[in-house]
Amino acid sequence: MNRLKDHTNELLRASLIQQLSAYSQNEDEFLRHVVDLAGTRGEEVYPVLLNIFTQLEFKEDEARFIWQDMVRHREQMTDSMARPVNLTTAICDYMLTVRRELLHPKVVELNLFEETSHYCKCDSLTGLYNRSYLEEALKSEASRCKRYRTEFSLAFFDLDHFKTINDTHGHQAGDEVLKSVAKLIESEKRAEDIAARFGGEEIILMLPGTQKYNALILAERIRHKIQKMYLRFEGKRIQVTASGGVATFPLDTDIAAEMVECADRALYRAKNQGRNQIVLFSEDKRHNYRMDLIGPIKVQELGMKTSQLPALGRIKDLSLSGVLFESQKPLNMGSRIQVEVPLSSREKPLVMVGRVTRSQPSGSAYDVGASFLHFGDQDRMEISRHFADLLHTSSSRH
Ligand code: GH3
Ligand code: MG
Ligand code: MG
Repeated sequence: MNRLKDHTNELLRASLIQQLSAYSQNEDEFLRHVVDLAGTRGEEVYPVLLNIFTQLEFKEDEARFIWQDMVRHREQMTDSMARPVNLTTAICDYMLTVRRELLHPKVVELNLFEETSHYCKCDSLTGLYNRSYLEEALKSEASRCKRYRTEFSLAFFDLDHFKTINDTHGHQAGDEVLKSVAKLIESEKRAEDIAARFGGEEIILMLPGTQKYNALILAERIRHKIQKMYLRFEGKRIQVTASGGVATFPLDTDIAAEMVECADRALYRAKNQGRNQIVLFSEDKRHNYRMDLIGPIKVQELGMKTSQLPALGRIKDLSLSGVLFESQKPLNMGSRIQVEVPLSSREKPLVMVGRVTRSQPSGSAYDVGASFLHFGDQDRMEISRHFADLLHTSSSRH
């Protein structure tokens, strides 16, 4: 009986540790997971959890009480420091300031480590994370994305003509501008996003679980707010603009260390195109990509008794939810079709299954629309890249 319980605890422990590392950039999500787990597994979760963090043994009800108290303590710390406080730091602080009787040599050691690493993580002028912290975070986010087949984006901002701001208003005014921009970015981002000062007046925002399209929307919003921001310094009014580049993992590169370079190349282009704008990295590939999209697609009706040769059609529109193409013959409404879209970025065409929702004469041919029934993550990324390209094309026309 005890052996069985030990075994269950080991499994629970392993699963919690795995979740902790998976959600290392989003501990709020981890805390929600703990609540769910306690709902299904009961209070045995708490002693295991506390043991992971403190190496101390507690009974179930005591463990639950202490854990919930620690979580509350973390919330209070987050409020009073006005920045996210990680669980380990909060737990150490709890044991040092709230429940000293729980103190344990290992925890004290851990606390000292956390304190020193806090200072190493942050930039002293802006309070944002520093470059080395960002580089570490990039590595762990990239491996998390590979494991769970998700995406993340980087938005790389650089203030425009910042030298002129320093020259005109003085270095101290420049510092104040930098602090205000950092504060603005901090207030616009989500809790799980990481904002870091990469260099002098360069700020990088790492956006976990964010597709290029959404990263662009956020970066644009920040750019716009920076432009509208007025700063008063010694009676003078200072205005500043920023340029930005956006890159997405693994669409643009599947090497973590190259992400900054991709975003930087897009940023460079934003500077060349006149500053005060955001550019997407995938721009380089747009030409080939769009050439391919005007090439024919193969369409085959599924579930027909007689086997048919696939028909060729010219693609008119492609979105995450469906496709519109020109067909030489009408198709039956409601029938299932398989569509193959050739793309330069991959050897094999994208294959999607959809249901015909429209089939109307158009000139000498027919316009056929189909909504997709399902497609994989990889395909979704390909299509969202297409969106990002289109978006870039339309925004650069303004
Ligand atoms: P661009 O639009 O091409 O980015 O022009 P820029 O003048 O901003 O040029 P660049 O990015 O190459 O130069 C950044 C300048 O920012 C150089 C330096 O004088 C200033 N700078 C860098 N770090 C700080 C800082 O901490 N405080 C202040 N006040 N200025 C800084
Ligand atoms: Mg710069
Ligand atoms: Mg600059």
